[in-house]
Amino acid sequence: MPGPSPRASSASRERREEPRLARAQRFEGPSDLHLHSANSDGTQPPAEVMSAAHRHGIRTAALTDHDTTSGWAEAAEAATSLGMTFIPGMELSARHQWRSVHVLAYLPDPDDAALRAMTERIRSSRLDRARLMADRISRDYDLVWDDILAQTSDGATVGRPHIADALVARGLVRDRAEAFSGILSPGGDYYVALFAPDPVTAVELVVGAGGVPIIAHPAGRAGLLPPALMERMLEAGLAGFELGHRENVGAGLRTLRELCRDRDLIVTGSSDYHGMGKPNQPGENTTSDEMVARIIERARGSAPVHP
Ligand code: AMP
Ligand code: FE
Ligand code: FE
Ligand code: ZN
Repeated sequence: MPGPSPRASSASRERREEPRLARAQRFEGPSDLHLHSANSDGTQPPAEVMSAAHRHGIRTAALTDHDTTSGWAEAAEAATSLGMTFIPGMELSARHQWRSVHVLAYLPDPDDAALRAMTERIRSSRLDRARLMADRISRDYDLVWDDILAQTSDGATVGRPHIADALVARGLVRDRAEAFSGILSPGGDYYVALFAPDPVTAVELVVGAGGVPIIAHPAGRAGLLPPALMERMLEAGLAGFELGHRENVGAGLRTLRELCRDRDLIVTGSSDYHGMGKPNQPGENTTSDEMVARIIERARGSAPVHP
């Protein structure tokens, strides 16, 4: 019997490689991997966030609500019915000294016990802290706790944006931005910090849940995290940095670009859409197909949902 022709053998090589490619690359760009719904501090339900992304031309989208995975099922259903690929995600709160650090977690196992325990603890601390802030604000302004509840969807991760919306509804400020630069500012009299793990622990928890940890908006106005801390996060399994984000600025961005190039880290770009809560629009930054494929290949906790 004659052996397989060269054509047949190259076809079978393609077949052999297919499962890996199929797993990672059964998605289409453009990809926006950082979007918020009303399950945290965005202003629309998860399904509406997915249609907003679709309207802006996005074909692969991640939902990354703060400290919760509660929007995944609704978002996955909406995204796939629009022909989009859905990447389950979360933005995990962390804290280094006085500053907050946001760790994006892609494709973690939503049932991982340690990650769940941590997100539950953070969400409950967020609720206590919002009440304390409301108490302090109510001494000087006409605002009560019910005003804040009225701005918060059932079960949502509560944050300062909901207090901001309550202040807007009461006519005390014009918009979220004015609330954040005034009444809600960390330097002000009304601010209370929330409980959050240190950034290394946050990375360990995401990795432990099979997820891919990426630091969100890592070069904002507060400057870069100390290099030694970033090094410890990388040792713990930090996969990369969200370099494409409107809040990243200047010199820090250049430093991180070099770090990512030298260490072959994952680089993403995303909008951080919050509906009406921020000017950010879906697709204003996007992540390359190559980087999306690397995230999917690295993940062990859950899988993308395809149409
Ligand atoms: P918190 O985690 O409750 O302290 O609130 C921080 C959240 O508020 C961030 O995740 C952003 O989504 C949002 N945020 C921060 N600054 C602003 C701003 N100037 N305008 C609107 N939203 C903001
Ligand atoms: Fe937010
Ligand atoms: Fe963030
Ligand atoms: Zn965000």
